Amino acid sequence: MVESVIERITRGHFWDFHGGIHPPEQKTLTSTKPIKQLSLPKQLIIPLQQHIGREGDLLVSIGEHVLKGQALTLSSNPMVVPIHAPTSGKISAIKPSVIAHPSGLSQLCIFLDVDGEDTWRKKTVCPDLDQLSTHQIIEKIADAGISGMGGAGFPTHIKVNSKPDINFLIINGAECEPYITADDLLMMEQSDAIVDGIKILDKLLTPAFILIAIEDNKPKAIQALQQATEGIEKIKVCVVPTKYPTGGEKQLIQILTGQEVKSGRLPIHAGIVMQNVATCFAINEAVRHDTPLIRRVVTVTGQALSKPQNVWALLGTPVEFLLEQCGVQEIDNEKQPVIMGGPMMGFSVASELVPVVKTSNCILVPSKKEMPSAFEKESKEVECIRCGQCSDVCPSQLLPQELQWSAKAKDYQQLDKLNLSDCIDCGACAYVCPSQIPLVHYYRVAKAEIRQQQQLDIKAEKAKVRFEARKLRLEKEKVARQEKQKKAAAARKAAMNKSTPEATGAKSAVAAALARVKAKKAASQAGTTENRSDATENIKGKAKENAAEPVDDQKSQVAAAIARAKAKKKLKQEAINKVSSSNEVSVELEKLAPVAASIQSPADNKKEKIAAAIAKAKARKLKGATNPPVTNELPVAPAVVTTEELTDKVETERKVPEKVVKVDDKKAKVAAAIAKAKSKALAKKATQAASQPVHEPESIQNKVAVSKSVDNPIDVETSVLLPENEIQPEPAISKKEKIAAAIAKAKAKKKLKEGNNIDSKVTNNDKGNG
Ligand code: SF4
Ligand code: SF4
Repeated sequence: MVESVIERITRGHFWDFHGGIHPPEQKTLTSTKPIKQLSLPKQLIIPLQQHIGREGDLLVSIGEHVLKGQALTLSSNPMVVPIHAPTSGKISAIKPSVIAHPSGLSQLCIFLDVDGEDTWRKKTVCPDLDQLSTHQIIEKIADAGISGMGGAGFPTHIKVNSKPDINFLIINGAECEPYITADDLLMMEQSDAIVDGIKILDKLLTPAFILIAIEDNKPKAIQALQQATEGIEKIKVCVVPTKYPTGGEKQLIQILTGQEVKSGRLPIHAGIVMQNVATCFAINEAVRHDTPLIRRVVTVTGQALSKPQNVWALLGTPVEFLLEQCGVQEIDNEKQPVIMGGPMMGFSVASELVPVVKTSNCILVPSKKEMPSAFEKESKEVECIRCGQCSDVCPSQLLPQELQWSAKAKDYQQLDKLNLSDCIDCGACAYVCPSQIPLVHYYRVAKAEIRQQQQLDIKAEKAKVRFEARKLRLEKEKVARQEKQKKAAAARKAAMNKSTPEATGAKSAVAAALARVKAKKAASQAGTTENRSDATENIKGKAKENAAEPVDDQKSQVAAAIARAKAKKKLKQEAINKVSSSNEVSVELEKLAPVAASIQSPADNKKEKIAAAIAKAKARKLKGATNPPVTNELPVAPAVVTTEELTDKVETERKVPEKVVKVDDKKAKVAAAIAKAKSKALAKKATQAASQPVHEPESIQNKVAVSKSVDNPIDVETSVLLPENEIQPEPAISKKEKIAAAIAKAKAKKKLKEGNNIDSKVTNNDKGNG
């Protein structure tokens, strides 16, 4: 088959592709003029990403001075292509700026203030290709930042590193789009350099044949390359018919070899690699002259320019500067449209600051007469009439009208079925559409949206993989941790069971700890019993416990109250036994008054003060009433008991930890209420004592009994726990006292009665005896 292809090419016979158009060429505007060397612009705007792939890592910073050819970014990935300083100067900014893209989007750019010196970095020229290995050549191509200059921008070092056997290396010099003559001029002027670049590719790819394809509308370029390749059997200059879009990769392969690269397949699958003539020139510059890709030929053309021509433009040169150099004409009251690329595949630039990049081959500045559609502000699009002309001209054999409907409906599944990815954006369909539908515009928007969705899907998939990996790692760590703990526990158990001194010591330690716990428990129980037997110690102990225990421990407080009650009961009993003189009543009553006053004095309550005053008065009265006639028979026991009890209570309350007292105002108020109740009860007792017959010894016991309920610590402590407004000690006490008093009165009356009876009996006896 290969032989038959070469035979056909030698005879000048080629295949044809489907569709295609023949628009006005408009190439003569620039094809007759040599490539111009421009002066240096004042500032270059260099986008970090100028190819298909990712941008490199920045190697420079703001304020840094760089030399011509110095790398500005680093390639850390095969899909990363570095960029270089096109001339010497100072980096003034690194920030986003509008770039050459149909959407007018912004990208990170390096702003280089040109110093005018154009000072090169150190270069290592290598004229002898045999000194370099294949690997070194590929490395030089990668380091030079070369990517496809025909429009695709695919990293060249990947393309030239193809492993399979290559049948054909096709050099694309077709340059089929109207107006553009950059490759034509390059072939005319740099044919030897291009052929040197082709030889480098030959060394890397070792193809069976090398085919240089040039449209027949470029006779000078054809002649130049034929001369440059004379005597090289492997290289064939193929003069193909002019037809748009012959320069399309799949279309040119079909023309030259008759092979159709199917949808979803790449030329490399058919043993074919294609490179643009400008890329061949750049490869030679990089490998032999150590010159990175920092400039390219750009066709600056259109009837709106006074000097349309091809120029050597430094990458990063703003479109504005190129237009100035080529004499752009002013337009009154209208914005001059500027198209980057040709009239078929180009797009309007959003700003004249848009810079030239590695894939920029043309700047078209048309006049209104030349391209009226470029000046129209509103689209003249009308409904599709299903004429089918678009399908007839489509080189990819697609259905442009159906693609357009699906693109408008954002039906991405249907677009996939219609093979939108095979569309090369040639614009042939839109060119022939009678309804003036901007078909390519719709395809580009749909492609961008699909690409964005695919990127999101890839990100989501990567995130899912990361999540699953993390989950798996955590589970593994958990299992490992549990295993480790199990092993450690088993080791400890084994160590305990051993009869070594350490194991015995460990066992003893555990046994000792258990014994300590038991002893502590027993001591605590014993201590409780002891405390119950010793009331005084218990009060102190409980007070201390209360200080240590939480304030709100109600149980502890109740227990302490019980202990205090028992202690007081004991003391009372002792006191009763001790008291035998009526004089002591007076003394104790004297003591009672200030104590009662001191209990109540802290309280602000007026009632309490009044009650205290009454108590004092009654005490004084009692003292006055009891002093002269009553001697040994006064009911002194209640007074004595109450005084001591109160004193003790005051002391006990003083001993109550400050912490407890300060807990809240409520308790303080309750304490005051208790004091008030006590004073009242005391006063009442005093009154009752005064009103009782002085010779009634039983009343003493009764009073003591009554006083129990008044001074009962349990009652007091319980009432402490009640709210202030619920404390009503007086009625309860009065009742009991009344009952006691009634009982005492009844007893006294009975005694008196008995006494009278005896007296009367004695009298009667005396009378009878007398
Ligand atoms: S732009 Fe796409 S659909 Fe239209 S003719 Fe070209 S390849 Fe076909
Ligand atoms: S050429 Fe235009 S009008 Fe005709 S079928 Fe295609 S899209 Fe419709």
